[in-house]
Amino acid sequence: MVQQQVLLSRLNEWLQPNMVRDFCPNGLQVEGCHEIKKILCGVTATQALIDRALETGADTLLVHHGYFWKSENPSIVGMKRRRLASLLVNNINLFAYHLPLDIHPEFGNNAGLARQLELVVEGQIDAGGTPGLLWYGRLPRPMTHTDLNEYVSHRLSRAPLVVSGGKEKVETVAWCTGGAQGFIDDAHALGVDAYISGEISEQTTHSAREQGITYIAAGHHASERYGVQLLGERVRKEFDVIVEYCELANPA
Ligand SMILES: [Zn+2]
Repeated sequence: MVQQQVLLSRLNEWLQPNMVRDFCPNGLQVEGCHEIKKILCGVTATQALIDRALETGADTLLVHHGYFWKSENPSIVGMKRRRLASLLVNNINLFAYHLPLDIHPEFGNNAGLARQLELVVEGQIDAGGTPGLLWYGRLPRPMTHTDLNEYVSHRLSRAPLVVSGGKEKVETVAWCTGGAQGFIDDAHALGVDAYISGEISEQTTHSAREQGITYIAAGHHASERYGVQLLGERVRKEFDVIVEYCELANPA
């Protein structure tokens, strides 16, 4: 068992949410019970994740994508009302860490993707005003586009979308998980052969082809399922509490 406020202060100590300007609140987004016995980790605090918590007796959710995004309608109606009602009625805590979990050098999403793809980390640079958000380094070996496609598919259990930048083989890479396709020009400025992120936009293809940088859309969900698992493991080591991860597949 761990006290809610003890867990919150330890998570904040590790993730330093005050160091970044984010699009959502980071930390305890919805307050539930004070004594935490079982934590369910997931990428996004969907209704399905809440339902899974109820089925498995978890009293706390720990996620990357929580609620209360800057651009959303703040009214508590429809889907949002149902999710919040389920949490509040059942006294479930919701902890969410967005950008702080992307950038963390040990258990962030970029770190987790690097582990999963065996990328050699050489550095992190600021991107979009967030310190250390864009990572760079190398693939474990030079790869053709076909190799790269198969490799990422196998390692992430999801077929990526690869747009060739024209080079026969790629080795140096930059990466940022999730919806970070907009940083392709920052990746190009680093001089790398390829850039890996989660999603793709129409213009990403043109940036890739015209600047000669290969783009790999590895999936928003698929590229962001590792950080919260690493964080969950860390919590389990630190406290006497059950921690489980729930994979809810998402093709995006
Ligand atoms: Zn994301």
